[in-house]
Amino acid sequence: MEISTIEIVNSSKEKPMIVINNFIYHKNQDRKNGNIYCRCQYCSSKYQCPASVTTEGLNTQIVCFSIKQHVDYPFKEDIDIKVLNKEDKMRKRSRSEQIPIRQIYRSEMYNLIVETQDIENIPKLPKEKNEIDLTNPRFTSKSYSKPFLLFDTNDKDRITAFASDIQLEILAKSARWHIDGKFKSCPNLYKQLYIIHARLNEEMFAFNFLKEVCFKKRPNIATKNYNERL
Ligand SMILES: [Zn+2]
Repeated sequence: MEISTIEIVNSSKEKPMIVINNFIYHKNQDRKNGNIYCRCQYCSSKYQCPASVTTEGLNTQIVCFSIKQHVDYPFKEDIDIKVLNKEDKMRKRSRSEQIPIRQIYRSEMYNLIVETQDIENIPKLPKEKNEIDLTNPRFTSKSYSKPFLLFDTNDKDRITAFASDIQLEILAKSARWHIDGKFKSCPNLYKQLYIIHARLNEEMFAFNFLKEVCFKKRPNIATKNYNERL
């Protein structure tokens, strides 16, 4: 395989992964000679990808690739790898810096936007609510295949809701919901972040994020909007 990019990136669980030409490999086994055998991240998913790579250690020194190639699955783009790097940086900064996590998140997101502004198919950061474009599958699905956007009213009092099928299933099975509206942690352009927590099997799941643009804090409007959501 011709290598154009190779780097070590941490997973969301802070396990190092080797990223070669935007293919992600997880460590699978330590060999007796010190080499590390890594398998494609999709090895045990529905794709059953057989591709693997062996490295000299937890580094980018390649010993060999498997003969078997990657199967056909949604290809990771440059921005996907950049997002992984940014997430890792945010986790590290939130542990070492004495500033609010929200501030760290915003500064890293700003850096990401600057770094990716020339990448095709990535919409520019919206300045008005009507510029929020949810037609790109990147923003409406999980892993490009599982739907995540529940609905988007795209009107004057815009309400946008996100939930995966599994989250909806948990919500349907749960006998108790806790509903909370937040203003401070809401993304710009929206006025409120609205979260439903569901209790199931002694565990609390947080999901169903609704964000609305034109929420007004007048009681009659608030009641109307709360009812609309429910
Ligand atoms: Zn693969």
